[in-house]
Amino acid sequence: MKASIIAVGTELLFGQTVNTNAAYLSDKLNHMGFDVMYHFVVGDNPKRLKEKLAEAFSDTDIVLLTGGLGPTQDDLTKEMVAEYFGVEMYEDKRVLEDLVEFFRKRGGRMAENNLKQAFLPAGCTPLYNASGTAPGFALSKNGKTAICFPGPPREMKWLFEHGAEEYLSELTEKKMYYRVIRTIGIGESDLEMLLMPLIDGQTDPTIATYAKEGECTLRVASQRDSAEEAEAAVNEMISRISGIAGEYIYSLDDEELSEVVVRLLKEGSMTISAAESCTGGAFASIITSVAGASEVFKSSYVTYSDEAKTELGVDRDIIAGSGAVSAETAEAMAEALFKRTGAEICLSVTGYAGPEAEPGHDVGEAYIGYMYKGKIGHTRLSTSRIDREWNRNYFKLRMLRTAYMLLRGQDIQ
Ligand code: AMP
Ligand code: MG
Repeated sequence: MKASIIAVGTELLFGQTVNTNAAYLSDKLNHMGFDVMYHFVVGDNPKRLKEKLAEAFSDTDIVLLTGGLGPTQDDLTKEMVAEYFGVEMYEDKRVLEDLVEFFRKRGGRMAENNLKQAFLPAGCTPLYNASGTAPGFALSKNGKTAICFPGPPREMKWLFEHGAEEYLSELTEKKMYYRVIRTIGIGESDLEMLLMPLIDGQTDPTIATYAKEGECTLRVASQRDSAEEAEAAVNEMISRISGIAGEYIYSLDDEELSEVVVRLLKEGSMTISAAESCTGGAFASIITSVAGASEVFKSSYVTYSDEAKTELGVDRDIIAGSGAVSAETAEAMAEALFKRTGAEICLSVTGYAGPEAEPGHDVGEAYIGYMYKGKIGHTRLSTSRIDREWNRNYFKLRMLRTAYMLLRGQDIQ
C-alpha cells in the first residue's frame, strides 16, 4: 500500500522548524510495510493544502498529515480534509469534555477559539489526545485514508502510538499486538540505556519509552503476519526486558502502581496506614482512588505541623533534635502510626516540597519512614527539583513504591 505525508506549517517552509514529523512517520510506515512515496511540506494556506491533498491522493492510498490542527485561524487541516472527502464537521462531545476538563485543571479560562478543536469531520475515527488539547483523527472513504496529527512532535508521536498505529495496522495484512509495561525507580534515559542492547537496531518488536509523573512506561509492539506470531514476539521481548530491568518493573499489564499495591495487600490480607506531612493526604487520595481500597486502607493522618506529629505520638525531642524533616522523625512517625493503627504496613513521609527549604537542606529532600513486620526503616529522597507539585506527586509515588517493595520483600531504596 502506498502512502504519503503532508506536513503543514509555514514555519517549516521558513526553515524555523525541521520537519522531524515526516521522518518519524516515514520510519513507522516503512516498518509497518507501507511504501512511502512522497513528502510534501505546505504552508498554512488552505488552497495549496487542498491541492497537495488531491495530488497526494492521486497516487497514494494513505495520506498522513501533521500540523494545523490547533485552535487558531490558520489551523485549517481538518477543514480541508473534510472538504476533500465531502463531509461536514461535527462537534465531538468527548473532545469538548476533555477540553473543558483540561482548562479546568489548569485553572485558566478557555479562550473561545479552543472550542474549534472539538470539531471533527463526520464519519472519522477520533484520536483522543491525552498529551495535548488538539485531537487527531483518521478518516477513510472510497479506499482513501487520511490521518491527521497535531504538529508538536510529542503529541504526534503519542497519537501515532495510541490509536493511529492500530488504525493503520487494520489496513495492512499484518496484525499488531502490544503490551505496556510500567516501571518505577529509574529515569527514562537510564532505562533506555539499560535496554539499549534490545532497542538498538530493533525493528520488530519495537520498544518505546515514555516518562510519566515520576515513573516510566515501556510499550512493546509487534506487527506480524498473524496475531499469534505478534503476541509471541512481544512476550518473548518482554521476558528479555524483565531479565535486564526486572527490578524496576511493577506491572506487565499497564496497571497503576496504586492498583498493584491494593491488589498485593488484598492477596496478603494486610492493611496499610500513612502519616503524611508534605504530601498533605495525597497518599490517602491515591490509595482510595482504587476500587476496593476499603478492604486494605485503614487511615492516613495529615501530620503537617510539629504539633500534629507529637499528637500522633512522635517524641518532641526527636523533632527538636533531628528536625521535622529527618530520617529519625520519619521513622518515629511510622512507629507512632503503628501504635495507633496496628496496620501491617505503616508509612510516613516528611520533606521539603519547595519552593524553599530550611538552611542546610535542599528542596526535594524527603524521608519516607516505614514499619513493617516489626522492622522500622526509612529511605531518603532527593529530587533536585524546586517544583512543589512535582515533588509532592513524586513523594506520594515513592510511598507507593515503598509499600510495593515491602510487599514484594525487596530491599527498600
Ligand atoms: P501546529 O499543530 O501546526 O499548531 O504545530 C505546532 C508546533 O508543532 C509548531 O510550531 C512546530 O513547532 C511543531 N511542528 C509542526 N509541524 C512539525 C513538523 N512537521 N515537524 C516537527 N515539528 C513540527
Ligand atoms: Mg501550525
